[in-house]
Amino acid sequence: MTSTIPVFDGHNDTLTRIRKPGEERSFLERSDRGHVDLPRAREGGLCGGFFAIFTASPGYVRTAKPLFDAEGREVPGGVAYDLPPRLERRRALAFTLSIMSDLFRIEAESGGEVQVVRTAEEVRACREEGRLSAVLHIEGIEAIDTRLEALDVFYEAGLRSLGPVWSRPNAFGHGVPFDFPRGPDTGPGLTAAGRRLVEACNRLGILLDNSHLNEQGFWDIARLSDAPLVATHSAAHALCPSPRNLTDAQLDAIASSRGIIGVNFHVGFLRADGDGSGREPTPMTEIVRHARYIADRIGVEHVGLGSDFDGAHMPEDLGDAAGLPRLLDAFREAGFDESEIRQIAYENWDRVLADTWEA
Ligand SMILES: [Zn+2]
Repeated sequence: MTSTIPVFDGHNDTLTRIRKPGEERSFLERSDRGHVDLPRAREGGLCGGFFAIFTASPGYVRTAKPLFDAEGREVPGGVAYDLPPRLERRRALAFTLSIMSDLFRIEAESGGEVQVVRTAEEVRACREEGRLSAVLHIEGIEAIDTRLEALDVFYEAGLRSLGPVWSRPNAFGHGVPFDFPRGPDTGPGLTAAGRRLVEACNRLGILLDNSHLNEQGFWDIARLSDAPLVATHSAAHALCPSPRNLTDAQLDAIASSRGIIGVNFHVGFLRADGDGSGREPTPMTEIVRHARYIADRIGVEHVGLGSDFDGAHMPEDLGDAAGLPRLLDAFREAGFDESEIRQIAYENWDRVLADTWEA
């Protein structure tokens, strides 16, 4: 069975990935590298999504170390990593502007096939008229000053979503490490600047993404924000105890805010053993397993997709964006009906974007 349901996606790292030295490719031409380009998006029914700008910490190498619990005992099979160091603002700003420019150039060169969207109505129109919608998202806002002046400028340029932190500390809050197994309560909440950021994003209509944020920061946003709570690319901690995933209490809070979880496709956030290496194959039914858990706990209206395409290790039987129809078939085989699949594929995102941007 081939699906005709379009998919709107909560997160990709394609803009950064396609200019990685040695892996450069054009977004507009089909490639067998990575996961997303325009031809593969068309083939898979990917109608749009969040296009992240992410600035890496220079020189950081992720090195696995033993994990210790709060009592200082080594956790068998556990793994810990040092957080990447703080990122210098000047470097983040230069890189962010450069990637933003890439996206605007892709839009300009696409002959009307790609549109940077600023309203929920534009997202809908792109889907119905066959253009790929791109929501400009910054993942970890080291490029923004604590007076939030750059925020105003980025908003005017089209920024409609941001994650205050990636998995490292910055002037706004603290990101979770990639340790496993571990809970997301890994440090203090938002800074004073982070709390001002919440107010500013509410006022401007910028979506605040909780993926990568630690638990105290999440509860600060839950308390301060008047927008739906969103995790664009995370999964269920009860099924895979990564600090990148959401506890049941966090899922409940997202539901009561009328928010959404974009279920991440990264095998290390899906598998019960947290193994993201790809040493063993992982079926895409793992994505469905997390979606089912979240839907059963808080309702299917809070489930979306947040692939992490071009930034993570995909289930081998999904492959890339062209494999999305197979994923929707896996939802069917698991007993989701067509109206539920439509909600997960794009309708829930439509609602949250409208509620966030137009409130
Ligand atoms: Zn991420």
